Amino acid sequence: MADRFTLRLIDSRMLAPQVRHMVFERTDGEPLPLVPGQFLQIHFHYDDGTPTKRSYSVGTVGDGRSPLGRIEIAVSYVEGGAATELLANLQHGGTVEASGPYGRFCLHGGDAHPRYLLIATGTGVTPYRAMLPQLAEWLAPGGREAVLLYGARNEAELLYGEEFEAFAKAHPGFVFHPCFSRQPRAVPRPIDRAGHVQDTLPELAPSTERDIAYLCGNPNMVDAAFAALKDFGLPVAQIRREKYVSSR
Ligand SMILES: Cc1cc2nc3c(=O)[nH]c(=O)nc-3n(C[C@H](O)[C@H](O)[C@H](O)COP(=O)(O)OP(=O)(O)OC[C@H]3O[C@@H](n4cnc5c(N)ncnc54)[C@H](O)[C@@H]3O)c2cc1C
Repeated sequence: MADRFTLRLIDSRMLAPQVRHMVFERTDGEPLPLVPGQFLQIHFHYDDGTPTKRSYSVGTVGDGRSPLGRIEIAVSYVEGGAATELLANLQHGGTVEASGPYGRFCLHGGDAHPRYLLIATGTGVTPYRAMLPQLAEWLAPGGREAVLLYGARNEAELLYGEEFEAFAKAHPGFVFHPCFSRQPRAVPRPIDRAGHVQDTLPELAPSTERDIAYLCGNPNMVDAAFAALKDFGLPVAQIRREKYVSSR
């Protein structure tokens, strides 16, 4: 059974006009035994006292092995959202109830596939941020690749873009393509692509022999990319999905 614990907000910053990066620690001082890619649930009550909860992927870049002392999430504000109201207004030092970790959206080191296709929109990129240390280890011997296709409407909404770009420069085998669906960057970079994430798939020519794909974020994107990957012949077992649906 998943642990229940209290989280204290120790730091935060705005990553984009409507996305808050929040850093928590457990008030009991215990670290969180989390496999990169997993998520937490935040528990709270509606105004009428009914209990509810929402899920958030943990994006902390740990060392890939030890439990986490710092628990980082990225919260995308949803208009009229109950958790949005709670988390947007939480002050440093404030606490929330949480449980976890949950989920199986994790890298499987034993995978025989030579390439990971990691696909996300919005805050759906946070699990991949948490996976970076594992990816660094996996890529180190050479002969393997990981490609991150990350969709944002515009430059302002690209989360952790500089971090992923720096990781790609430091780790041969890691390819990063931000995909801008509405507006290109003011100063476009060679790695940039136009359109939705699935529009860049033909360039990568996904194949059953080479690829295992991960899809995370907006449910419409997950469905569209899933359909596109199946058209390239990828079997369902080689496409892992995490849909950010509201759990109301
Ligand atoms: C496994 C998992 C992991 C998740 N990880 C993250 C994460 O890392 N970061 C993150 O920000 N969210 C994440 N989510 C989504 C998150 O759990 C909440 O659903 C989201 O924050 C909205 O909650 P809310 O209480 O603010 O809005 P709600 O009170 O649930 O919804 C308010 C209104 O907005 C609508 N709505 C809800 N979500 C959206 C949306 N995305 N776009 C447009 N309308 C919407 C609802 O239908 C409702 O009408 C994840 C979801 C799952 C299932």
